[in-house]
Amino acid sequence: MKLLVCGGAGYVGSHCVRRLLAGGHEVVVFDNLCAGHREAVPASAGFVEGDLADADLLRRTLDGGGFDGALHFAAFLNVGESVNVPLKYYRNNVANTLNLLEALEASGVRRIVFSSTCAVYGEPPEMPIREDLPKNPINPYGTTKLAVEWMLRDACAAWGLGAVALRYFNAAGASADGVIGEDHDPEIHLIPLVLQVALGQREKIFIFGTDYPTPDGTCIRDYVHVEDLAEAHLRAIEGVAPGRFEAFNVGTGRGNSVREIIAAAREVTGHAIPAEETDRRPGDPPMLYAAPDKIGARFDWAPRYTEVRETIATAWAWHRANPRGFGK
Ligand code: UDP
Repeated sequence: MKLLVCGGAGYVGSHCVRRLLAGGHEVVVFDNLCAGHREAVPASAGFVEGDLADADLLRRTLDGGGFDGALHFAAFLNVGESVNVPLKYYRNNVANTLNLLEALEASGVRRIVFSSTCAVYGEPPEMPIREDLPKNPINPYGTTKLAVEWMLRDACAAWGLGAVALRYFNAAGASADGVIGEDHDPEIHLIPLVLQVALGQREKIFIFGTDYPTPDGTCIRDYVHVEDLAEAHLRAIEGVAPGRFEAFNVGTGRGNSVREIIAAAREVTGHAIPAEETDRRPGDPPMLYAAPDKIGARFDWAPRYTEVRETIATAWAWHRANPRGFGK
């Protein structure tokens, strides 16, 4: 298939682009490089530097381009910022996605895979999280992702779009061959921050909250390897059902606490990784881990990385070889 990958220069998007190419698909990346890295896009993929706000450029890219489908990763993802500047998130994550959907409709493209998030569940009443639990996002980031899911659902019903929303848990790790990895600026995610301490770029890691109702008092998350996410996207775009909207959790089904992540990173890196306990970060649910059975049944997907230590080891290999990330 010929596939447009919006946000294909970002962390999850770039790993997916490599998997799509390896699967024999033709890929054109559409990315404004505000957070993505041109270096993360393989030379064999086409590249359009553009913003989804630019409806004309989208139309020109899609019209007559012979595209069979799209994957959409382009979004802002800083939960804290989304609370402080919500309309920036609605503009980029929702309004710009509307541009994309209108351009897909106009150019006759009828399949899409969308990067959604476990943040659509908010603070779920039970664990593990199944797809049919209530969707009650507790921050604008989660709300914008849920709003896009609703747009997709309605477009599927109205004009025959087939859409899959993949609700990721915590994307982690780097490509096993060490070619690409995670590089956010500023970095806000636990595993890369911990590894920056091991690299001597930070003095210590702050543990946000030690009084959660979890066995060791710190938050529990489901860290899913980015190459397992990529495999899920490949299977989803190949298997989209015409006229249907479907949503799936993508996680390992296992949770690890913040303390467990730090301990695993100490083992992997051999570095002491000093940690300081501090207050809770607002908006962090105590525990989030997936029931990944639905995607297993539908797309025969299962995570290959089930030990978070191995996921961290791939991240460490990349960060150690690329201490300045992609070098910006
Ligand atoms: N966390 C932490 N210290 C940090 C960054 C994150 O203790 O410097 C915690 C955070 O409170 C959460 C977990 O690590 O419980 C994962 O956070 P991250 O930002 O990586 O992902 P999120 O779960 O917010 O998507």
